[in-house]
Amino acid sequence: MSAIEASRLSKRYGRRFAVKDLNFKIGQGEIVGFLGPNGAGKTTTLRMLAGLIRPSQGECRILARPSPSKELREVGTMIEEPSFYPYLTGKGNLNYAAKLHGGVKVSRIDEVLSFVHMENASHKKVKAYSQGMRQRLGLARALLWKPKILLLDEPTNGLDPVGIAEFRESLRQIAKEEGVTILISSHILAEIEKLVSRVLVIERGELLYDGRLADLTRQLGDKTSYRLLATDQGALEKVLSDLGFRAELLNSGYIKVEVSSEQKGFLSGLAHVGIDLIEASRESESLEGAYLRLLKEDGRPV
Ligand code: ATP
Repeated sequence: MSAIEASRLSKRYGRRFAVKDLNFKIGQGEIVGFLGPNGAGKTTTLRMLAGLIRPSQGECRILARPSPSKELREVGTMIEEPSFYPYLTGKGNLNYAAKLHGGVKVSRIDEVLSFVHMENASHKKVKAYSQGMRQRLGLARALLWKPKILLLDEPTNGLDPVGIAEFRESLRQIAKEEGVTILISSHILAEIEKLVSRVLVIERGELLYDGRLADLTRQLGDKTSYRLLATDQGALEKVLSDLGFRAELLNSGYIKVEVSSEQKGFLSGLAHVGIDLIEASRESESLEGAYLRLLKEDGRPV
């Protein structure tokens, strides 16, 4: 049984689709990254999954039931910046959320506060919290009723690098010990690549990629970049451009060129057209590079 499922899920505002025809299934206990640039449709998708807004077309299922349904009680969310009552303390806010949801043991409140390292600040009013403290309290609130599913929208906004690492560790622990399914959005790959092995990449409301992170580089890894230095860089640039390669003169003086697998023999060919190479080094593409290229190949300048 899938924990989360989207079938032809779409949301239209006016004539414009914010999310269009999304199809994916997330199994129980999976941690999946939801990646895409600003305005891609991540928040809109998460809000539909959380039952906060209705899809224009298609449907989502939570724990195999068409959503919204009572299964949403099994979902913990942190969508957009978490909002709290500023004049209540952190603990007071959690108390209130626990009452609204129902079925939360009193001891659970201290448990989640300690889990997000907020026990010392829990008696301060939320109006005095930093953004990072609100984010932590937001995660604590999302965990109150031991959810089976966590929907997190850019949850590390406002956290410093130590906070981000702690947050990541907390999520890993929840997934491992409690088998919670986590869908976590970000527009920065580096932030979630250490946490997830599968990603959904969305752009302009449409799904561009659904798969393992490692395969993202492999799938796009058909092209390799070389950094070249020749005795005459001008002549090299001209030859490359005449041959139809995408070449770029870097500030360092090197020329960077992208070569596909069928063009691998091109380096030896350069000597035949009078290019005297001093240096040629291969660069393997980073995951971030692959991600950016995926977005670029969709026609969007990044
Ligand atoms: P970010 O990373 O900036 O949070 P996102 O991927 O979460 O972006 P969404 O907030 O889902 O993107 O927005 C997707 C598109 O839908 C955007 O073009 C946005 O302007 C539009 N949109 C979102 N909510 C509404 C709304 N209530 N009314 C009209 N348009 C909306």
